[in-house]
Amino acid sequence: MQSTAHAFKANVRAALADQPLQQALGMARTGFQQKRADAAARLPEFEALRDAAKALKDHVLGHLDLYLEAFEQRVVEQGGKVHWARDAAEARAILIDLCQAAGARTVTKSKSMVTEEIGLNEALETAGIRPIETDLGEHIIQLAGQRPSHILAPAIHMTKERISALFAEHHGRPPVTQAPELLAEARAFLRQRYFEADIGITGANFLVAETGSIVLVTNEGNAELTQGLPKVHVVLAGIEKLVPTLEDAFVLLRVLARSATGQEFSAYTTVLTGPKRPADLDGPGELHVVLLDNGRAGMLGTEFQDMLRCIRCGACMNHCPVYLATGGHAYGSVYPGPMGAVLTPGLVGIEEAQHLPNASTFCGRCEQVCPVRIPLPKMMRHWREEQFRRQLTPPTARYGLKLWAFAARRPALYHLGAKVTSRLLGWLGGRRGRFASLPLAGGWTGSRDLPAPEGQSFQALWAARQGRGR
Ligand code: SF4
Repeated sequence: MQSTAHAFKANVRAALADQPLQQALGMARTGFQQKRADAAARLPEFEALRDAAKALKDHVLGHLDLYLEAFEQRVVEQGGKVHWARDAAEARAILIDLCQAAGARTVTKSKSMVTEEIGLNEALETAGIRPIETDLGEHIIQLAGQRPSHILAPAIHMTKERISALFAEHHGRPPVTQAPELLAEARAFLRQRYFEADIGITGANFLVAETGSIVLVTNEGNAELTQGLPKVHVVLAGIEKLVPTLEDAFVLLRVLARSATGQEFSAYTTVLTGPKRPADLDGPGELHVVLLDNGRAGMLGTEFQDMLRCIRCGACMNHCPVYLATGGHAYGSVYPGPMGAVLTPGLVGIEEAQHLPNASTFCGRCEQVCPVRIPLPKMMRHWREEQFRRQLTPPTARYGLKLWAFAARRPALYHLGAKVTSRLLGWLGGRRGRFASLPLAGGWTGSRDLPAPEGQSFQALWAARQGRGR
């Protein structure tokens, strides 16, 4: 995974000034949130389902070794093969070996964030194999030479006009501008590619230990064509995708679609078990499942274990004021938004991703909407503590925090300091009642004024409101 997370601040400045991007993000700012809220309101047991989903994932993570072994055994019994990849490089090598063994020149792919995580497309191209993305959003960004800006809607940052120009350039047809025409053109272009592919590569929404099945969810049906038409199907999935039974998978499916797009259920949900059997009319002759660790096992038993519950629904980013202002590319990582702010430092290191855990207002909406109740703000705080511990935080912030901690442990001194500072700022703010610039507060005053306190500290105002003078 190529990261530009270190450039988050510069990326944000560019994103905020990018008018077409801001226009494209308009839909993300309202549409997804309302749809999720409506879907949750229509299902009385939605909150109970979230509890069940959380408990289920916690159970799996507590017994992951057993479920992984059971899954492998079932896949082999059904005629498939399981490969284990410790990291991205091993996963790429396994996938390229599989492609070369099949003599593949072209592979079709359905949307899979984990293939983005390992940088699969670049590796395939280097090996002389042509990857073709079949999800509409992924097809658009592949034409644009970009990477996804959202884990569900990869091209959410693009306007219709930009897509129209891209299609005209790459499809070799006269430009069309209406959404149904663009869809029809992409469908006609991609349909032929399914028949040319030697291998189909998909991710997996869930892996079922009881049956060795792979559960795939899409709204376009492209994963079904990707896995069903070529002679070889390769699944790449993180080791955390295990669920014990098919029934458990359906608990997660019921919260996944509602949290993601507000649908009761995704348009296509496919359960695949083994390669084609003699009596089957279609299906791949070979099935390979590549199970990727890439740092996941190392998160078990740490303060970041809860992150492994993530079912990649995208709700946290759809409700994050930072993501909705900047879009996903600013994060410089495959995984943007609050889940990316927690996951990316674990994948690329906190030195590279140091700004990301700070890309949060800590409003807590991400945790409120997460279907598996991942405490995202708490984990971002853990990363901030780690930054502080490793002295990655800027010196001014470090010394400021130390000063604050010194005072906070001495309440009388703290109250005195707060009283003096609020009076001083109230006086300096004068009649205008606000500051257009302040030393050490340029991040705030760069885009808005800082209101001056009215001469009293928060504690004094609070005590007065409670009927206690301070
Ligand atoms: S962290 Fe929660 S809300 Fe965000 S993508 Fe994962 S499951 Fe969805």
